[in-house]
Amino acid sequence: MTTLIVGAGLAGLTAATELVAAGKEVTVLEARDRVGGRTHGIEVSPGQWADAGAAYLGTRHTELKALIDRLGLSTVPTTTEGQSRFSLGGGPHSSQGRFPPLSAVALGELFDLLDDVTRTVRADAPWLTPDAERLDGLSAAEWVEQHVSHPDARLFFPLFLGEMMAADPADVSVLHMAFYLRSGGGIRYLNAFAGGAQEDRVDGGAHRLSELLAAKLGDRVLLGQPVRVVEESGSTVRVHTDRGVHTADSLIIAVPPLLADAIEYRPGLPSRRAGSTTVPGCAVKVHLVYPRPLWRDHGLSGWSVSSEGPLLSTVDDSPPGDGVGILTGFVTGREAREFAALAPERQREAAVAQARRLFPELPEPIGHHVTDWINEEYSRGCYAALFGPGDWVSFGPHLATPHGRIHWAGTETSTEFFGLMEGAIRSGQRAAAEILEGLQG
Ligand code: FAD
Repeated sequence: MTTLIVGAGLAGLTAATELVAAGKEVTVLEARDRVGGRTHGIEVSPGQWADAGAAYLGTRHTELKALIDRLGLSTVPTTTEGQSRFSLGGGPHSSQGRFPPLSAVALGELFDLLDDVTRTVRADAPWLTPDAERLDGLSAAEWVEQHVSHPDARLFFPLFLGEMMAADPADVSVLHMAFYLRSGGGIRYLNAFAGGAQEDRVDGGAHRLSELLAAKLGDRVLLGQPVRVVEESGSTVRVHTDRGVHTADSLIIAVPPLLADAIEYRPGLPSRRAGSTTVPGCAVKVHLVYPRPLWRDHGLSGWSVSSEGPLLSTVDDSPPGDGVGILTGFVTGREAREFAALAPERQREAAVAQARRLFPELPEPIGHHVTDWINEEYSRGCYAALFGPGDWVSFGPHLATPHGRIHWAGTETSTEFFGLMEGAIRSGQRAAAEILEGLQG
């Protein structure tokens, strides 16, 4: 029995690893010339790596933690010691902790409202949530317009959504926002460093996970093989890539929904996995490199939040030890679309100028790297696909349901930790189990 797997991200590689462990034959077809998908490392100085894609994890990411252990990797804590810096309408302002200098009552009420709507969602099947049609028909921007009046809460909401989901509030339905927050463990867990979902990073970079998984799979992983056509007939599936045709008796498609829909299926599938309101996510990551983490000398954590871009937040992602200092800037939502459209030199100028305004005590960085996920042909979901108004009700029931010999994986098919590395791993495990149990749609 052979299974073809489309996509060598964490989901596809996990599925392949589980099937091989059960004695099955697999071939993984990957479009890019590298594995890892939305995990990707860049070497910012010799031997020192930064995460251009996924970085953070927490204790509830149990499958990810187990994988890190199995592969002999380790984690480093995300550094948050020192004062945070905020630029929310005035000049830069320092304060201890991560609470912004805005009305605590207004932000408290905003979080209570978010908690209320998050609690109502059916995490296992968001489309079955009571009142799902109404919640799915309303964008998060419309919801905030209707329910939130305090200017501080209105200022903070898009920053919160940008940081949590790389989403512009106009792009996601309330149902998607609430589901995402619930699936990830709730607002407080998702948003927290110590004890939360951003507590640790993989030492050496999260891309190491995929590289080590792929190394164990050896020549079962084929790079540079974008899948264009899937043909199902009788007991076989034929998959056409730019380099040839592969045949198997089952198939796992482990790519984001917009890319799964871009494949031609013969015969056609009864349902799509995304629609015209599905947005590929809007994130650009900027790494500013310093000779060492100089902000620590000034009692600063490197954490910042700004209401004006491009860098809506920054965090200290320096490697452990005595090496370079790395400030990672997150450009998300609408800012990301505008920033991605700039020429590389304009991007550098804008990012460096903002870092200088936010941290006037720091010199110019000695290096910078911009990773534009919006224009990545083979991602279309960064951090993850954003489901806009109507998407969950239309596509949700089909996202993970096998069709004939085709099974679906990828973080967007996981109702637990949707959008995160943990969700990707769990989806790969589920798809492999379906095949081993002989499930067919
Ligand atoms: P992918 O990693 O997207 O893998 C899909 C693979 O399929 C890719 O390798 C792609 O090249 C390939 N592919 C696509 N189309 C085809 C085709 N037609 N034929 C063949 N191959 C194809 N998660 C966290 O847990 N913590 C974080 O801090 C975090 N931060 C993030 C920050 C950024 C900037 C980004 C982009 C993502 C972040 N994420 C984070 C999300 C995390 O990266 C993803 O949830 C996870 O990596 C998804 O894995 P996957 O296997 O489902 O999909």
